[in-house]
Amino acid sequence: MRIIMLGPPGAGKGTQARKLSEEFNIHQISTGDIFRKAVQESTPMGIRAKEYMDKGQLVPDEIVVGIVEERLKQPDLAKGFILDGFPRTISQAESLEQILHNSGTKLNAVINIQVPRDELIERFTGRRVCNSCGASYHVKYNPPRITGKCDICGKQLVIRPDDELETVKKRLEEYEQKTTPLIEFYRSRHLLINIDGEKSIDEVFQEIVDRLRGGKK
Ligand code: ADP
Ligand code: ADP
Ligand code: ZN
Repeated sequence: MRIIMLGPPGAGKGTQARKLSEEFNIHQISTGDIFRKAVQESTPMGIRAKEYMDKGQLVPDEIVVGIVEERLKQPDLAKGFILDGFPRTISQAESLEQILHNSGTKLNAVINIQVPRDELIERFTGRRVCNSCGASYHVKYNPPRITGKCDICGKQLVIRPDDELETVKKRLEEYEQKTTPLIEFYRSRHLLINIDGEKSIDEVFQEIVDRLRGGKK
């Protein structure tokens, strides 16, 4: 199964991608997590990406596409993958099409998680993340078992620097301008599955699984 998670920042892509990766036993590839790790390790790519991330802007296509292309070549993805946060521009989507075409594979579905803006702001405000394993929590909607500690690895949870309100507004703008055209792109390829992302995490998950298993688009 080869799936893309689409939707505005804060919609729950990462949360659902993790659950789906367990359910279908396939890897999750999060470009945001890859960049955050590179920033922490101060690699040359991380230093370049940070400039854009701090401002809430998308990292340029040529940086992102190279990373994803390398990752998709790894043998552990032969069974499939969940792309979380990629593609985010038409140019990235076209590159992905080419990469998959060259390896003789195709996408199965694009999950478009829909959440209204006010609710997104609420989600950013309460988001807490683990820098070590990438897990994301919410102080109200998805709290960790022990306050401030990651359930999976026990590390201290932190607020993402780009979840500050001014940066969030810029990220939402970038999404509107550059990423929403992908909805039409994938609709026209009959891959789009629209999901109501306003329900609880478990309800959203169940709906995605049903739609994927039922094969409904
Ligand atoms: P969110 O899940 O809140 O949308 P991500 O963790 O996916 O955020 O991404 C964080 C930041 O990393 C983005 O604001 C952007 O700067 C960069 N980024 C991640 N994926 C991409 C991508 N596919 N193209 C360009 N920039 C990206
Ligand atoms: P994205 O990867 O799309 O940026 P996340 O998965 O990180 O989004 O979720 C954003 C925030 O909202 C996190 O704090 C997460 O715990 C919370 N969240 C995710 N899905 C839901 C949901 N269905 N209802 C309430 N909160 C949610
Ligand atoms: Zn963790």
